[in-house]
Amino acid sequence: MAQDRRSALRGLPAVHRLLGDPAVREALAPIPGGLWVPALQDALAELRAMWAAGSPDPAVWAKETTAEAIAARARGLADRKLAAHLRPVLNLTGTVLHTNLGRAPLSKRAIQAICAVAEGYSNLEFDLASGERGSRHAHVERRLQALCGAEAALVVNNNAAAVLLVLSALAAGGEAVVSRGQLVEIGGSFRIPDVMAQAGVRLVEVGATNKTHLADFERAITPQTRLLVRVHTSNYRIVGFTEQPSLRELAALAHRNGLALYEDLGSGALFDFAARGIGDEPTVAASLRAGVDVVTFSGDKLLGSAQAGIIAGAAKWIEPMRKHPLMRALRPDKLTLAALDATLAAYSDDAWAAEEIPVVRMLTESYESVATRCRALAERLRSTMEAAQVRLEEADVASRVGGGALPQVELPSRALRLRAAHVSAQQLFDDLRTVPAVPVVGRLAQDAVLLDVRTLLPGQEDTLVHSVEAVAAHLRARV
Ligand SMILES: *Cc1c(COP(=O)(O)O)cnc(C)c1O
Repeated sequence: MAQDRRSALRGLPAVHRLLGDPAVREALAPIPGGLWVPALQDALAELRAMWAAGSPDPAVWAKETTAEAIAARARGLADRKLAAHLRPVLNLTGTVLHTNLGRAPLSKRAIQAICAVAEGYSNLEFDLASGERGSRHAHVERRLQALCGAEAALVVNNNAAAVLLVLSALAAGGEAVVSRGQLVEIGGSFRIPDVMAQAGVRLVEVGATNKTHLADFERAITPQTRLLVRVHTSNYRIVGFTEQPSLRELAALAHRNGLALYEDLGSGALFDFAARGIGDEPTVAASLRAGVDVVTFSGDKLLGSAQAGIIAGAAKWIEPMRKHPLMRALRPDKLTLAALDATLAAYSDDAWAAEEIPVVRMLTESYESVATRCRALAERLRSTMEAAQVRLEEADVASRVGGGALPQVELPSRALRLRAAHVSAQQLFDDLRTVPAVPVVGRLAQDAVLLDVRTLLPGQEDTLVHSVEAVAAHLRARV
């Protein structure tokens, strides 16, 4: 017996012999030559481990140890090593701006714009009209001026960077006045007081958590004051006995004292969601119209583009930021600018924006429309789920905006509800997330898995069906 074991292992072909086999070479042809030897070594090591774990059935062993089978195993191992670690997943959480799932999916035109610029060279910092050096900000500045009603605009890597740049450029070494009700933490250890400290700005807190009066700001102004700051409490609301001075009042106070009023809007809507009955998010243009001198907001929240931070407002205050040493460290990549350029173009018409920009489309899609898509999916999956003993129903749910925006808004939506007869909801939820096909991220609620169809993008239906069917096949095999 011990003799048999040794000879079976000795029967495994050596790497150099495998490399000489034309069938092996053909099987490995699609992967780079430098990976052939390590991949074959890995495959042989796996077979030895299989053997060590307990003698496999001789027939299975014979089949697994042919040169072709070893090559196929090596190819599989190499493919797994080469596979992208950052990869697509299906978002069925119903949270439109899911920070962990990459926030905003981009519009088709934004994706095309990225590809066009990524494939070759571009006029990123080259003025084609004059043949001279240009500015990377020029590509989107005109659109931002028009959409925000701003004199000037700049783009940086994200809104956190925008906040840092504004504070560093306009208030370093001085004081900035903020209401105590607006000392926001947005998560990931980004807190307004900490960013102030980082920018070398002394934070002057005024008022109380629930109430701040204009007079509180007025009393706090000293010769050291550089900036009055408003932070949109995007991810929480203070309700009840509350008060904040209006933007107009604050702007007038700032200007009487030769100061700027800066507002961190967080999400920064260019689309009037409130006019469609969705939340109360102020638009960027409304803030600037009310007299705010500088606003900052995210590119990949409600705006629906790539990760970026946008700074817009009066040229007098934006100019020093262009020349600030931090600008170079925070400047956006050409891919970001390409996506932003194409996304902003769609905002020139509201109906176009709602159709073209996935975030705007998902947030404005009616319950009826989601329910129709949900019904079609339920019909496609019904028999597969029955065979796997999974109960499939359609259920009313509430989708969320996410990304720290409009926290109190619930969008009436429709979901597939899955309950398996033989495995827990948690197990089914895990199986969907770890399926070798495209992972499906749903929600767990009331002992069932909910797949909210609002955040399933058009064209992803087949992928979802394929992933769910793979999980069902796995369940059937287990019963
Ligand atoms: C989200 C948010 C930020 C940070 O924006 P990022 O683009 O994620 O860096 C800053 N301030 C407020 C109020 C926010 O809501």
